Amino acid sequence: MAQTQEERDLAVVIGLEVHVQLETETKIFCGCSTEPAEEPNTRTCPVCLGLPGSLPVVNEAAVEAAVKVGKALDATIPERTRFHRKNYYYPDLPKNFQITQYDDPICQDGELECTVGDERRTIRIRRAHLEEDPGSLKHKGGSIDTAEYTLVDYNRAGVALLEIVTKPDFRSPEGVRAFLTKLEEVLEYLGVFDASRDGSLRVDANLSVVDADAVDGDGDGGISTDVLEDANRTEVKNISSHKGAQKALSYEATRQKNAIRRGRAVEQETRHWDESRGITVSMRSKEEEKDYRYFREADLPPLEVADWKEQIEIPELPDARRERFREEYGLSDEAADKLTSTKQVADFYEDVAAEFDPDLAATWVADELLGELNYRDMESTDVADRLDEVKRLVELVATDEITVKNARETVLRTMLDEGTDPDTIVEQAGLGKTSGDEVQQAVEAAIDENPDAVEDYHDGEGGAINFLVGQVMQKTGGSADPGDVNQLLREELK
Ligand code: ADP
Ligand code: MG
Ligand code: ZN
Repeated sequence: MAQTQEERDLAVVIGLEVHVQLETETKIFCGCSTEPAEEPNTRTCPVCLGLPGSLPVVNEAAVEAAVKVGKALDATIPERTRFHRKNYYYPDLPKNFQITQYDDPICQDGELECTVGDERRTIRIRRAHLEEDPGSLKHKGGSIDTAEYTLVDYNRAGVALLEIVTKPDFRSPEGVRAFLTKLEEVLEYLGVFDASRDGSLRVDANLSVVDADAVDGDGDGGISTDVLEDANRTEVKNISSHKGAQKALSYEATRQKNAIRRGRAVEQETRHWDESRGITVSMRSKEEEKDYRYFREADLPPLEVADWKEQIEIPELPDARRERFREEYGLSDEAADKLTSTKQVADFYEDVAAEFDPDLAATWVADELLGELNYRDMESTDVADRLDEVKRLVELVATDEITVKNARETVLRTMLDEGTDPDTIVEQAGLGKTSGDEVQQAVEAAIDENPDAVEDYHDGEGGAINFLVGQVMQKTGGSADPGDVNQLLREELK
């Protein structure tokens, strides 16, 4: 008996097209700077404005970055790769075509592992190709469909992009978020990407809803090709953050499921994620490949990448480094995760751990430093050039020159709030632990001045020692170490 629409168990299928802005000093086909500019249309030249007679030249740095990403994603990098023109008419595209790659992209068939909840998942990468970014449109007096007029800025036109296309391997919006987080981590480790740059990661997400029975069977990633092709999917554009991706896709999944349950068909179309309203809106029916009239970019010769592939090396990636931190330094999973979250933090940690006890280094970098930074909404990059000061702080603790409490509550916090170095703070706040002699004198004085407490101590009264410690702390202005004082008192009272 056929199930009614309402009874059908439905599952979500998602595939991504992620546009990553590659960190290169100049654009992909001309020498214009990629630094953000105050004024619109100031980082332009005849090439990126598409003026007649201008010719593109490939930026080596962009190719190198793409090869690095390809290696990190375990992708196949072909012997040679080519560029194509993708034709469409739109104001952000001055040439009326975008130089991109078509049938032999620079990276093919890779994968990336990520953790969704407690589960490890492998997302297969279909391809990654180089292309130029279009310009940016500024809609004035409204959004894309309600604006009075639109201005165009070509500063971004021609910036190097790598478009990474996944297979439809996601089964939930949470999975997408986990993947994007992991992808950013890897890109950042490779040094080809700057997450803090506005719009440096933009996602188009394809989503369809299929019968739950169709999932985890045979076929492509557990779903038969027929089912994948038959399912009407929407492509959601304008997603620019991990959180945005999760929200947009949760909305879209619910919208499609509701349509199906009510017996309505899902249109195959392109939809726009309206971040401020938290909904997706229909933009246009989805264009097809043939609409773009791809043809060879005759102004650029095929690119031989075989040698580059051999020569270009990539650094240790986050998963491997995490594993090594656990083994080499005996760190907990949690500490290893925190300390490898960015390459900079990991390098920082290893630098401190090389000089001090790795556990002590982990406590000070992962818990204290990152904790205080987080509390202040600061990033580890804000202290990138203060490694020596952090090391000095750890040294002050390791050599017992200041108390842990003072190191944490005064020195570190003042370092971050005022930008001063640890020694200056210790000196100004008089935090140096009082020298042994002074403590010894204070211990003796406390005993002389408090015979009652001494008697109580000998009678086995627990509180008496604490009282005496308190007296010594007072005499030394709080700069003695309470543990040391306790020990000295006990010896003195033997
Ligand atoms: P197109 O040629 O229409 O752009 P592609 O085959 O290149 O389509 O795939 C584009 C994206 O759509 C890929 O990320 C892919 O994983 C995803 N995709 C393909 N089929 C589905 C589906 N049934 N549901 C969701 N996403 C899909
Ligand atoms: Mg596509
Ligand atoms: Zn230019």
